[in-house]
Amino acid sequence: MRDLSENTERVVRCERPSRRAFLFTSAGACGALALWSLRPSSTASAANLPGMVTIVEFGANGKKTGKVVVAKVVKSDAEWRQLLSPLSYEVTRQAGTERAYTGDSLNVHDRGLFRCICCDTAVFSSDTKFDSGTGWPSFWQPIARENVVETTDRSLGMERTAVSCRQCDAHLGHVFTDGPPPTGLRYCMNSAAMHFVKLA
Ligand SMILES: [Zn+2]
Repeated sequence: MRDLSENTERVVRCERPSRRAFLFTSAGACGALALWSLRPSSTASAANLPGMVTIVEFGANGKKTGKVVVAKVVKSDAEWRQLLSPLSYEVTRQAGTERAYTGDSLNVHDRGLFRCICCDTAVFSSDTKFDSGTGWPSFWQPIARENVVETTDRSLGMERTAVSCRQCDAHLGHVFTDGPPPTGLRYCMNSAAMHFVKLA
């Protein structure tokens, strides 16, 4: 299984060069690269480099396109303030929480992907969204476990599990164990941490 996913990852990266680079890359070279990736070590070592992470990418049709090794998105506090709305900055970079029943994506019922507001990584799918009655958009699982990070949060005098974006560390929300089947989990997210992209 591991070899297969590593191979998928390498093939996807093979399709990613710019058009100019593509013109100089023959199909044979691409095939050789795919074969080369069957050798152990390549992807694992790339993903272990400092500042690099492995995420799963999704296309405009909502389908998984493969794993990729990408550089983490790192910006200064001043840069994030400039790029984000005050609320999105407060939620994602200061681990804030928007007021219940105020988020744009709470009542989104279209099919599509919820992407990180800071770096565009796909984090949740409408396929797992449910009405939790809490006033925050809720999901029973992330779109890919690789795309989020779960950490223990002991703020506010309680122990919770915080959920953040793998590629840029944006705080997205918390996960609780009172969700519906099949996982029993409730990912309680902030609309301000995500933007919704309807399926093409
Ligand atoms: Zn992000």
